[in-house]
Amino acid sequence: MSVDRVTVGSVEIARVTDGTMTGLPAFFFSGIPPSMYEPALGDDLKSNGMIDVEFGSFLVRSSGKTLLIDTGMGNKRGSPGGRLLDNLKQIGVSPDDIDVVMNTHLHVDHVGWNCIEQNRAYVPTFPNAEYWVAEKEWLFWTSDPGLVSEEGPYLASDVLPLRDSPQLKLVDGEAAITPEVSLLPTPGHTPGHSSLAISSAGESAIILGDVAHHPLHLERLWIASVDELPRTSRRTKRALAQRLIDEQLLVAAGHFSSGGFGRLVMADGRRNWRTL
Ligand SMILES: [Zn+2]
Repeated sequence: MSVDRVTVGSVEIARVTDGTMTGLPAFFFSGIPPSMYEPALGDDLKSNGMIDVEFGSFLVRSSGKTLLIDTGMGNKRGSPGGRLLDNLKQIGVSPDDIDVVMNTHLHVDHVGWNCIEQNRAYVPTFPNAEYWVAEKEWLFWTSDPGLVSEEGPYLASDVLPLRDSPQLKLVDGEAAITPEVSLLPTPGHTPGHSSLAISSAGESAIILGDVAHHPLHLERLWIASVDELPRTSRRTKRALAQRLIDEQLLVAAGHFSSGGFGRLVMADGRRNWRTL
């Protein structure tokens, strides 16, 4: 049983899942032949040739604030997710309690509970929360009307309704949400993708977002077919993997099905993911 809650100094981080999906490895390891990824996946490769991918959000308590990092797939349109609010309730958290929602990026599996339908309109699910999004990310997904038809209706239900809301907070660079939690720009998966850097009482952690969907993205620096900017994604992975090793940072990874917390270490000259 892997760990689902950690403390970093005085900051608490809990992994809260919205559900699990299965996917084809070729989708997550773009251009990598099966002869390479199959042995590397080991037990993660199921008998049907698929791998599990978790929709993991993180609940962060820092400096008196409650932060929700990413909002999963949601429950609209036959989603394979939909359990986030129930799982928050199980740990005593209601939508009213969330002070800050932060979307690491604006893909469908990270914004699914941003909004709910009320009186035939989509309104923020978390009524008291500021919704933090990197401005670069926001502009990428909202400036081109063609993207809405290309990417599916989720932009219309879970992103665009925030445009005129006073709850939307667009930020730039390494903006600080609390004195202990800041955005860390990690572009590549999407142009304005941001991880979270957490530092408190001499301890540090990173919430990855989709810098990695599977440990192999950190170990081998393989890229995913859903990375908007593949070459930038690889550079970001390489730089961040080095930092994770050099500083022995605690890592929180929402999509890892083998456990959401761990560390990247060097073992026998290779990068190696160790689940907590
Ligand atoms: Zn994702």
